[in-house]
Amino acid sequence: MELKQRLADIEVPRDRVSVNRKLGEGAFGIVLGGEVQLKNQWIPCALKSLRDTASNSEKCTFLSEATLMRQFKHSNIVCLLAVSTQEEPFYAIMEMCLHGDLKTYLISRRVHAREPGEFSASLPTTLTNFAIDIAKGLEYLHGVKYIHRDVALRNCLVTDKLTIKICDFGLAREAIQYGLFTYKSDVWSYAIVLYEIVTFGKFPYGSRSNEEVCDAVKRGDTLLEHLPVDVNPLLRNLMACCWSFEHDKRPTMTEVAEELARHPGCVAAC
Ligand code: ADP
Repeated sequence: MELKQRLADIEVPRDRVSVNRKLGEGAFGIVLGGEVQLKNQWIPCALKSLRDTASNSEKCTFLSEATLMRQFKHSNIVCLLAVSTQEEPFYAIMEMCLHGDLKTYLISRRVHAREPGEFSASLPTTLTNFAIDIAKGLEYLHGVKYIHRDVALRNCLVTDKLTIKICDFGLAREAIQYGLFTYKSDVWSYAIVLYEIVTFGKFPYGSRSNEEVCDAVKRGDTLLEHLPVDVNPLLRNLMACCWSFEHDKRPTMTEVAEELARHPGCVAAC
Protein backbone atom coordinates (compact mmCIF):
# COMPACT_ATOMS: atom_id res chain seq x y z
CA MET A 1 0.00 0.00 0.00
CA GLU A 2 1.49 3.33 -1.08
CA LEU A 3 0.31 5.06 2.10
CA LYS A 4 2.31 2.63 4.25
CA GLN A 5 5.43 3.51 2.27
CA ARG A 6 4.90 7.17 3.07
CA LEU A 7 4.99 6.27 6.76
CA ALA A 8 7.85 3.74 6.45
CA ASP A 9 10.43 5.98 8.13
CA ILE A 10 8.35 6.23 11.32
CA GLU A 11 7.33 2.54 11.38
CA VAL A 12 8.24 0.71 14.61
CA PRO A 13 8.20 -3.07 15.10
CA ARG A 14 5.58 -4.39 17.56
CA ASP A 15 8.19 -5.37 20.16
CA ARG A 16 8.97 -1.67 20.62
CA VAL A 17 5.40 -0.99 21.68
CA SER A 18 3.95 -1.73 25.09
CA VAL A 19 0.25 -1.26 25.79
CA ASN A 20 -1.03 -0.92 29.34
CA ARG A 21 -4.50 0.65 29.51
CA LYS A 22 -7.52 1.99 27.67
CA LEU A 23 -7.77 5.79 27.36
CA GLY A 24 -10.94 6.22 25.32
CA GLU A 25 -12.95 5.36 22.23
CA GLY A 26 -11.96 6.75 18.86
CA ALA A 27 -13.67 6.70 15.47
CA PHE A 28 -11.54 3.78 14.27
CA GLY A 29 -11.24 1.74 17.45
CA ILE A 30 -10.06 2.10 21.01
CA VAL A 31 -7.37 4.54 22.08
CA LEU A 32 -4.79 2.96 24.39
CA GLY A 33 -2.12 4.24 26.73
CA GLY A 34 1.35 2.73 26.72
CA GLU A 35 4.98 3.28 25.86
CA VAL A 36 7.01 3.24 22.68
CA GLN A 37 10.75 2.71 22.33
CA LEU A 38 12.27 5.44 20.17
CA LYS A 39 16.03 5.98 19.90
CA ASN A 40 16.63 3.46 22.72
CA GLN A 41 14.29 5.22 25.11
CA TRP A 42 10.84 4.18 26.26
CA ILE A 43 8.45 7.13 26.25
CA PRO A 44 4.77 7.39 27.24
CA CYS A 45 2.38 7.45 24.30
CA ALA A 46 -1.26 7.14 23.24
CA LEU A 47 -2.03 4.52 20.62
CA LYS A 48 -4.97 4.91 18.28
CA SER A 49 -5.86 1.43 17.16
CA LEU A 50 -7.72 0.34 14.05
CA ARG A 51 -10.38 -2.29 14.84
CA ASP A 52 -9.81 -5.67 13.15
CA THR A 53 -13.15 -5.52 11.36
CA ALA A 54 -12.09 -2.35 9.49
CA SER A 55 -12.78 -2.32 5.75
CA ASN A 56 -10.05 -1.48 3.21
CA SER A 57 -11.45 2.00 2.84
CA GLU A 58 -11.33 2.53 6.63
CA LYS A 59 -7.71 1.30 6.62
CA CYS A 60 -6.91 3.89 3.95
CA THR A 61 -8.60 6.68 5.90
CA PHE A 62 -6.72 5.66 9.07
CA LEU A 63 -3.36 5.72 7.27
CA SER A 64 -4.21 8.97 5.43
CA GLU A 65 -4.98 10.61 8.77
CA ALA A 66 -1.59 9.48 10.09
CA THR A 67 0.12 10.80 6.92
CA LEU A 68 -1.60 14.14 7.41
CA MET A 69 -0.79 14.33 11.13
CA ARG A 70 2.91 13.66 10.66
CA GLN A 71 3.23 16.85 8.61
CA PHE A 72 2.14 19.00 11.54
CA LYS A 73 4.85 20.24 13.87
CA HIS A 74 3.66 22.64 16.54
CA SER A 75 3.55 22.63 20.33
CA ASN A 76 -0.26 22.99 20.32
CA ILE A 77 -0.94 20.16 17.89
CA VAL A 78 -0.75 16.51 18.99
CA CYS A 79 2.41 15.00 17.53
CA LEU A 80 2.43 11.67 15.70
CA LEU A 81 5.50 9.86 17.01
CA ALA A 82 5.36 6.62 15.05
CA VAL A 83 3.12 4.03 13.44
CA SER A 84 3.07 0.26 13.83
CA THR A 85 1.34 -1.31 10.84
CA GLN A 86 3.29 -4.52 10.20
CA GLU A 87 0.83 -6.41 12.39
CA GLU A 88 -2.84 -5.95 13.20
CA PRO A 89 -4.27 -4.03 14.86
CA PHE A 90 -2.58 -1.05 13.20
CA TYR A 91 -1.45 1.63 15.67
CA ALA A 92 -1.01 5.37 15.14
CA ILE A 93 1.29 6.32 18.03
CA MET A 94 0.91 9.82 19.42
CA GLU A 95 2.49 11.81 22.21
CA MET A 96 0.66 11.22 25.49
CA CYS A 97 -1.59 13.95 26.88
CA LEU A 98 -1.89 12.75 30.44
CA HIS A 99 -5.07 14.60 31.45
CA GLY A 100 -7.11 13.49 28.42
CA ASP A 101 -9.61 15.76 26.69
CA LEU A 102 -10.32 19.28 27.94
CA LYS A 103 -14.08 18.78 28.17
CA THR A 104 -13.78 15.91 30.66
CA TYR A 105 -10.95 17.75 32.42
CA LEU A 106 -13.09 20.84 33.06
CA ILE A 107 -16.31 19.00 33.90
CA SER A 108 -14.54 16.92 36.54
CA ARG A 109 -13.14 20.09 38.15
CA ARG A 110 -16.38 22.10 38.27
CA VAL A 111 -16.73 21.74 42.03
CA HIS A 112 -13.15 22.91 42.71
CA ALA A 113 -13.72 25.94 40.49
CA ARG A 114 -16.35 27.22 42.94
CA GLU A 115 -14.32 26.56 46.10
CA PRO A 116 -11.99 29.30 47.34
CA GLY A 117 -8.39 28.11 47.17
CA GLU A 118 -5.29 27.85 45.04
CA PHE A 119 -7.04 26.13 42.13
CA SER A 120 -9.81 28.70 41.73
CA ALA A 121 -7.43 31.63 42.35
CA SER A 122 -5.20 30.62 39.45
CA LEU A 123 -8.12 29.77 37.12
CA PRO A 124 -8.28 32.99 35.07
CA THR A 125 -4.61 32.59 34.15
CA THR A 126 -4.94 28.86 33.49
CA LEU A 127 -8.11 29.19 31.39
CA THR A 128 -6.74 32.11 29.38
CA ASN A 129 -3.61 30.08 28.66
CA PHE A 130 -5.80 27.18 27.49
CA ALA A 131 -7.67 29.53 25.13
CA ILE A 132 -4.40 30.99 23.80
CA ASP A 133 -2.94 27.51 23.22
CA ILE A 134 -5.97 26.47 21.16
CA ALA A 135 -5.88 29.74 19.21
CA LYS A 136 -2.18 29.23 18.45
CA GLY A 137 -2.75 25.63 17.35
CA LEU A 138 -5.46 26.80 14.95
CA GLU A 139 -3.35 29.71 13.77
CA TYR A 140 -0.64 27.17 12.85
CA LEU A 141 -3.10 24.86 11.06
CA HIS A 142 -4.52 27.77 9.06
CA GLY A 143 -0.97 28.86 8.24
CA VAL A 144 -0.28 25.46 6.66
CA LYS A 145 -3.64 25.74 4.83
CA TYR A 146 -5.56 23.20 6.88
CA ILE A 147 -9.13 23.81 8.04
CA HIS A 148 -9.83 21.70 11.13
CA ARG A 149 -13.63 21.46 10.64
CA ASP A 150 -14.39 20.05 14.10
CA VAL A 151 -13.01 22.58 16.57
CA ALA A 152 -14.51 21.58 19.93
CA LEU A 153 -13.44 21.19 23.54
CA ARG A 154 -13.50 17.37 23.28
CA ASN A 155 -10.87 17.60 20.50
CA CYS A 156 -8.41 19.50 22.71
CA LEU A 157 -6.12 17.41 24.90
CA VAL A 158 -4.38 18.43 28.13
CA THR A 159 -0.76 17.46 28.86
CA ASP A 160 0.86 16.93 32.27
CA LYS A 161 2.23 20.50 31.99
CA LEU A 162 -1.28 21.85 31.23
CA THR A 163 -0.45 22.65 27.62
CA ILE A 164 -3.37 22.16 25.23
CA LYS A 165 -2.89 20.18 22.03
CA ILE A 166 -5.46 19.97 19.25
CA CYS A 167 -6.27 16.48 18.00
CA ASP A 168 -8.72 14.68 15.71
CA PHE A 169 -7.90 15.29 12.07
CA GLY A 170 -10.85 13.21 10.94
CA LEU A 171 -10.62 12.83 7.20
CA ALA A 172 -13.83 10.80 7.07
CA ARG A 173 -16.00 13.89 7.60
CA GLU A 174 -14.28 15.75 4.75
CA ALA A 175 -15.74 13.87 1.84
CA ILE A 176 -19.33 14.28 3.00
CA GLN A 177 -19.18 17.88 4.10
CA TYR A 178 -16.60 19.35 1.74
CA GLY A 179 -17.32 22.95 0.86
CA LEU A 180 -19.21 23.88 4.00
CA PHE A 181 -16.08 24.77 5.88
CA THR A 182 -13.68 27.69 5.71
CA TYR A 183 -10.96 29.12 7.98
CA LYS A 184 -13.64 31.46 9.28
CA SER A 185 -15.98 28.59 10.19
CA ASP A 186 -13.14 27.33 12.43
CA VAL A 187 -13.06 30.83 13.99
CA TRP A 188 -16.82 30.63 14.62
CA SER A 189 -16.40 27.22 16.30
CA TYR A 190 -13.46 28.51 18.32
CA ALA A 191 -15.80 31.02 20.03
CA ILE A 192 -18.05 28.09 20.98
CA VAL A 193 -14.96 26.56 22.61
CA LEU A 194 -14.52 29.80 24.59
CA TYR A 195 -18.14 29.41 25.75
CA GLU A 196 -17.41 25.81 26.77
CA ILE A 197 -14.30 26.89 28.68
CA VAL A 198 -15.91 29.70 30.72
CA THR A 199 -18.92 27.48 31.57
CA PHE A 200 -16.65 24.54 32.49
CA GLY A 201 -17.92 22.25 29.77
CA LYS A 202 -21.58 23.22 29.54
CA PHE A 203 -23.31 21.88 26.41
CA PRO A 204 -23.51 24.95 24.14
CA TYR A 205 -27.08 24.59 22.87
CA GLY A 206 -28.71 23.13 25.97
CA SER A 207 -31.62 20.86 25.18
CA ARG A 208 -32.08 21.93 21.54
CA SER A 209 -32.09 19.16 18.91
CA ASN A 210 -29.50 19.03 16.10
CA GLU A 211 -32.12 20.30 13.66
CA GLU A 212 -33.07 23.23 15.89
CA VAL A 213 -29.39 24.15 16.32
CA CYS A 214 -28.83 24.03 12.51
CA ASP A 215 -31.85 26.28 11.90
CA ALA A 216 -30.74 28.71 14.59
CA VAL A 217 -27.18 28.88 13.16
CA LYS A 218 -28.50 29.45 9.60
CA ARG A 219 -30.61 32.36 10.89
CA GLY A 220 -27.46 33.86 12.35
CA ASP A 221 -28.45 33.20 15.98
CA THR A 222 -25.46 32.95 18.28
CA LEU A 223 -24.87 32.06 21.89
CA LEU A 224 -24.33 35.72 22.69
CA GLU A 225 -27.71 36.12 24.41
CA HIS A 226 -27.03 32.94 26.39
CA LEU A 227 -23.65 33.92 27.77
CA PRO A 228 -23.39 34.06 31.55
CA VAL A 229 -23.83 37.68 32.73
CA ASP A 230 -20.40 37.83 34.31
CA VAL A 231 -18.40 37.02 31.17
CA ASN A 232 -15.55 39.52 30.85
CA PRO A 233 -16.83 42.29 28.48
CA LEU A 234 -13.69 42.05 26.43
CA LEU A 235 -14.18 38.34 25.92
CA ARG A 236 -17.86 38.87 25.10
CA ASN A 237 -16.83 41.34 22.42
CA LEU A 238 -14.24 38.93 20.99
CA MET A 239 -16.82 36.13 20.85
CA ALA A 240 -19.32 38.45 19.15
CA CYS A 241 -16.72 39.27 16.47
CA CYS A 242 -15.98 35.53 15.93
CA TRP A 243 -19.74 34.98 15.47
CA SER A 244 -20.17 37.81 12.92
CA PHE A 245 -22.64 36.62 10.29
CA GLU A 246 -20.33 37.81 7.50
CA HIS A 247 -17.20 35.69 7.40
CA ASP A 248 -14.83 38.52 6.53
CA LYS A 249 -15.86 40.46 9.65
CA ARG A 250 -14.56 37.58 11.81
CA PRO A 251 -10.97 37.96 13.08
CA THR A 252 -8.17 35.60 12.04
CA MET A 253 -6.84 33.15 14.62
CA THR A 254 -3.65 35.25 14.79
CA GLU A 255 -5.73 38.29 15.80
CA VAL A 256 -7.64 36.23 18.37
CA ALA A 257 -4.43 34.87 19.95
CA GLU A 258 -2.94 38.39 20.11
CA GLU A 259 -6.09 39.88 21.66
CA LEU A 260 -6.18 37.21 24.39
CA ALA A 261 -2.47 37.61 25.11
CA ARG A 262 -3.02 41.37 25.61
CA HIS A 263 -5.57 40.65 28.35
CA PRO A 264 -4.22 38.00 30.71
CA GLY A 265 -6.95 36.42 32.83
CA CYS A 266 -9.86 37.54 30.63
CA VAL A 267 -11.07 33.93 30.19
CA ALA A 268 -12.43 33.37 33.70
CA ALA A 269 -14.92 30.79 34.99
CA CYS A 270 -18.52 32.08 35.08
P1 ADP B 1 -10.99 9.82 17.09
O1 ADP B 1 -10.43 11.07 16.49
O2 ADP B 1 -10.50 8.58 16.41
O3 ADP B 1 -12.47 9.85 17.29
P2 ADP B 1 -10.05 10.90 19.53
O4 ADP B 1 -8.83 11.60 19.07
O5 ADP B 1 -11.29 11.72 19.73
O6 ADP B 1 -10.38 9.72 18.55
O7 ADP B 1 -9.70 10.10 20.87
C1 ADP B 1 -10.69 9.51 21.69
C2 ADP B 1 -10.33 9.73 23.16
O8 ADP B 1 -9.07 9.09 23.46
C3 ADP B 1 -10.13 11.19 23.54
O9 ADP B 1 -11.33 11.80 23.92
C4 ADP B 1 -9.14 11.11 24.72
O10 ADP B 1 -9.82 10.83 25.91
C5 ADP B 1 -8.28 9.90 24.33
N1 ADP B 1 -7.05 10.33 23.65
C6 ADP B 1 -6.88 10.48 22.30
N2 ADP B 1 -5.63 10.87 22.01
C7 ADP B 1 -4.98 10.98 23.20
C8 ADP B 1 -3.64 11.38 23.58
N3 ADP B 1 -2.73 11.73 22.65
N4 ADP B 1 -3.34 11.40 24.89
C9 ADP B 1 -4.26 11.06 25.83
N5 ADP B 1 -5.52 10.69 25.54
C10 ADP B 1 -5.89 10.64 24.25
